[in-house]
Amino acid sequence: MKTTHSNSRRNFMKFVGVSSLFAISPSMAADAVTPHVVVIGGGFSGATCAKYLKMWGGGSVNVTIIETNPTYVSPILSNLVLNSQKTTSDLSFTYTDLNSKYGISIIHSTVDSVDKTNQTLALANGNSVKYDKLVLAAGIDFIKVNDYDITEVPHAWKAGEQTNLLKAQIDAMKNGDTFTMTIPAAPYRCPPGPYERACVVADYLKNTKGFDDCKVIVLDANANITVEADTFGAKFAEYGVEYKPSTTITAVDDTTKTLTYTEGGETKTITSTVLNVIPNQKAAPIIFTAEVNSGNWAPINPLSYESLVASGIYIIGDSQGTGQPKAGHIGNSEAKVCADAILRTLNGVALYASPKTNSACYSPTSATEASWLSAVFKYDSSTQSMVIANLAAGPSDTSNYTKMFLWSENLFSDTFS
Ligand SMILES: Cc1cc2nc3c(=O)[nH]c(=O)nc-3n(C[C@H](O)[C@H](O)[C@H](O)COP(=O)(O)OP(=O)(O)OC[C@H]3O[C@@H](n4cnc5c(N)ncnc54)[C@H](O)[C@@H]3O)c2cc1C
Repeated sequence: MKTTHSNSRRNFMKFVGVSSLFAISPSMAADAVTPHVVVIGGGFSGATCAKYLKMWGGGSVNVTIIETNPTYVSPILSNLVLNSQKTTSDLSFTYTDLNSKYGISIIHSTVDSVDKTNQTLALANGNSVKYDKLVLAAGIDFIKVNDYDITEVPHAWKAGEQTNLLKAQIDAMKNGDTFTMTIPAAPYRCPPGPYERACVVADYLKNTKGFDDCKVIVLDANANITVEADTFGAKFAEYGVEYKPSTTITAVDDTTKTLTYTEGGETKTITSTVLNVIPNQKAAPIIFTAEVNSGNWAPINPLSYESLVASGIYIIGDSQGTGQPKAGHIGNSEAKVCADAILRTLNGVALYASPKTNSACYSPTSATEASWLSAVFKYDSSTQSMVIANLAAGPSDTSNYTKMFLWSENLFSDTFS
């Protein structure tokens, strides 16, 4: 059924609340052209933003997602593929519901460039798309120390083929072999994720494979375990993980699987059976193409996620540079603030002045245990930034392992269904 403009305006009015009704000019109901919001990227932040724009905006807004891949593989829970508790198919989502249930148009192609003057995108398939508002939800890119083959030395930090490659390499390990991984300098995608991976792999080799003589070595660019230090520190001790903080990777050799790094001013090397280098990170390439970056990330106004350098362009998820963690749960949260802000702006309503966001990460530490970490952020008007309002963590245990799946199902369905 086609939603009429007045119906959709009623939807929006319902959403902004009665007090805001009076802020909407009656003349806006006669708008001839429905605004087109284009979201680049259909991951946790982009898919959520598109869904809530349509849920709250109804027919007052046309929404298109442009996403390279027809299937999204969630990095969340992807460490459980490495120890055979999940498969990448279990973590795969399509865009069918977003299209059929909410009327979001889906284009599968890559956006190559953004013409900000003419508000037009050039796509790899040769087409171009016009937008009124643009949301960039394109994730991260890697800063590799040299040009090496990532099929030999996988990062597995974007999920899918990379995850399965790393799993196959781990499964080919024999007793006595070494697994070496590197942790990037903060900020990077999913603060607890690399420590969680070291635990999952160490547990898998020791307790599932029954190998008593494998080594797990972790080279961390940071001075300490960045989050949940007590939990991960205790697990590293239990599994015998060799942890080297304050290390800087200087070269990766994909043929010999050798890492060159500096530690305490000395240059050293490690050769390993499996090498899992998670490189330092920056915003996705389209952030740089669109010239909305400042350094490695994109500065935004946390009341709306609108770029501080280009009006009408919004950046959410891992690419944004607010200092909030780069994680899927908070990307979903930012997406809702952004959808709200875009609808308010299109309808001439003031931005909501006190947004809060929430980050939550569950970390499997074995095939039966997980810990969790949650942070609530609130807007601080004096610094115009998001500051921590509450921080909480839960221990590694079996009850949290079960709760992890309830949490993830909830997040997955809020994003893709
Ligand atoms: C092992 C691991 C565990 C994790 N665990 C947690 C957890 O417990 N909790 C949590 O909150 N987070 C977790 N994360 C982090 C979370 O997965 C990411 O932070 C989240 O996926 C970021 O969402 P995003 O929408 O910003 O980017 P993405 O999910 O990367 O989505 C970006 C999308 O944009 C598309 N794209 C990029 N450029 C273009 C273009 N030019 N044109 C078209 N499409 C484009 C990409 O194909 C991609 O699908 C984990 C990550 C890892 C690796």
